Amino acid sequence: MEQKEFKAESKRLLEMMINSIYTHKEIFLRELISNASDALDKLYFKSMEENLGLTRADMKIKLEADKDARTLTISDNGIGMTADELENNLGTIAQSGSFEFKRDNEKTEDVDVIGQFGVGFYSAFMVAKKVTVISKPYGSDKAFMWQSEGADGYTVSEAEKDENGTTITLEIKENAEEENYDEYLQVYKIRELVKRYSDYIRYPIVMDTEHEKLKEGTGKDGVDAEYEKETVTETLNSQIPVWKKAKSELKDEEYNQFYKDKFYDYTDPLLHIHTKTEGTATYSALLYIPEKVPYDYYSKNFEKGLQLYSSGVMIMEKCADLLPDYFSFVKGLVDSEDLSLNISREMLQHDRQLKIIAKSVEKSIKNELKKCLKNDREKYEKFFEAFGIQLKYGIYESYGMNKDELQDLLLFKTSNGGTTTLSEYYSRMKGVKAEEENAENSAEAAAENPAENTAEAADEQKYIYFASGSSVSRIESLPQTERVRDKGFEILYLTDNVDEFCLQMMHDYKGKEFKSVSADDLGLETEEEKEEIKKEQEDNKPLFDYMTEKLGGKVKSVRLSQRLKNHPVCITSEGMLSVEMEKVLSAMPNAENAKAEKILEINPAHAIFQKLKVLYENDKDKAGDYADLLYNQALLIEGMPIENPVEFSNKVCEIMAK
Ligand code: ADP
Repeated sequence: MEQKEFKAESKRLLEMMINSIYTHKEIFLRELISNASDALDKLYFKSMEENLGLTRADMKIKLEADKDARTLTISDNGIGMTADELENNLGTIAQSGSFEFKRDNEKTEDVDVIGQFGVGFYSAFMVAKKVTVISKPYGSDKAFMWQSEGADGYTVSEAEKDENGTTITLEIKENAEEENYDEYLQVYKIRELVKRYSDYIRYPIVMDTEHEKLKEGTGKDGVDAEYEKETVTETLNSQIPVWKKAKSELKDEEYNQFYKDKFYDYTDPLLHIHTKTEGTATYSALLYIPEKVPYDYYSKNFEKGLQLYSSGVMIMEKCADLLPDYFSFVKGLVDSEDLSLNISREMLQHDRQLKIIAKSVEKSIKNELKKCLKNDREKYEKFFEAFGIQLKYGIYESYGMNKDELQDLLLFKTSNGGTTTLSEYYSRMKGVKAEEENAENSAEAAAENPAENTAEAADEQKYIYFASGSSVSRIESLPQTERVRDKGFEILYLTDNVDEFCLQMMHDYKGKEFKSVSADDLGLETEEEKEEIKKEQEDNKPLFDYMTEKLGGKVKSVRLSQRLKNHPVCITSEGMLSVEMEKVLSAMPNAENAKAEKILEINPAHAIFQKLKVLYENDKDKAGDYADLLYNQALLIEGMPIENPVEFSNKVCEIMAK
């Protein structure tokens, strides 16, 4: 028999392919099973077209492992291959018969043949030293055998075979240091591989397995139990993927059970998203949002990603490209007919189809979250408690680019009690509703009655206020919140480290700027009030300059406050970096130099201000000491460490003892 060489381009490709295209050798089984499934599909379609009367129920894929002979056999009773087809399909890499079939049947509905790439078959050589294919085309009485030991070439000869279809026998390699080839002859491993990669192949994948059974007549009525071996034909795959079923067929329990089995969680997911999409991308997706943060979520071992299937066959365990980072907590899978089965990771990254699917998946998640926010606030709050921080990071890390996508999914604690979305806050803002309603005729109104208009503006809320602190109760006691609250304006309470950074990136919501209660100009005073303070400030300039000097660079300036009502002092900041941000940054490695430009503010209505004025005239040193005490007190209120606690407490005691 003449040994034929692989067609020229094949030879080198084969070597390369065997060793590099697949990351795991074990996927050879997935590839061969998928080919068998395709062959069954092809016969089924032929039967439909030509009225051959075959049914899917007659079709199956059979696996057999023979440990002694070291062979693993995969057979199907599908369409089979002629001698020419054996030669053309298996003799040339990248010559995919499936591709041609699909091309020729473009208009046939429901043709989703898995293999389209033309290399899968060769993965057999990753585990086999010799591959024998015996095939008999449907309707033919001749069978042929194709045999190869790898890159050197192959032979094709006549053979005997009863049934139509293809039988592929792999002579498994000897165990090697880097790979335990023996495993591929063991039932447990084969079962595991079928479950993992080929569970949803729509034909039964069967294998004869041996089990022990109680011998009849033993084990009861005083007769000792005796066992005998029994061979059972086991179906290894479950065939119908949950996500291919209609939504109406599935109950919540089924969705939840599938989640728990597949993604190893003990708790039911918070919600599931089941979509079937057709159009630019055709795919089904079954996605879950866990109820709790997965135990490894913050560990460096955590990998985001969805399982990726190509027509029911798993091609990737974790496809990271399918999820944006801010949805990294989503678990689930995507199944698409548009993806090639034997596509490598590197190629997948550039796959246009995959990008379209990823965009669409992202949109589904967003819509589902929005729906949940609208219809089930309690559930959404649970979700946000666990994963909301990811959305905030999503905005921050993209420098605000994801703002439009994510801003309406954010929740904040609020001085109103409970949580609020930005849109809810916005709708409660003073003057905003009127502003919107009057938007059309406001120009007219302004022209007609300018006086009335300014009166309204004074009461209008210009900013979305926020205050930061480690807890709600801490924030509530911040002196800086006094005037804002007094005005009846709502304040967002920021308790996560990332919050302020996130808002800074967002800058505004529907044109309303975010404003820290510690910021420079809160927009609360009338012009007259501003003038008054300014005058008082100027009158006492020497006192404030003196205090600033005494504080030796710890503050940028000391000034009168417009935000305090009852409290004597507080610390605020100027510039991009707030005191809260300084706290967050200084807790991180390599950021010890981040310092907010601090301002010590003094309540002009508080008795301490009068006292300072008197001291400055009569006892300057004491005024200096007081500056220091007040500064440290303001730090304490802010939850910041004070530089020298011993000195501080000694000074307080000194005063107490007087
Ligand atoms: P692909 O499956 O990507 O097309 P393969 O290298 O796996 O590429 O297979 C090449 C071709 O060989 C297939 O397209 C198909 O036409 C044919 N083939 C492989 N296995 C079988 C089989 N079990 N039955 C019938 N034809 C097969």
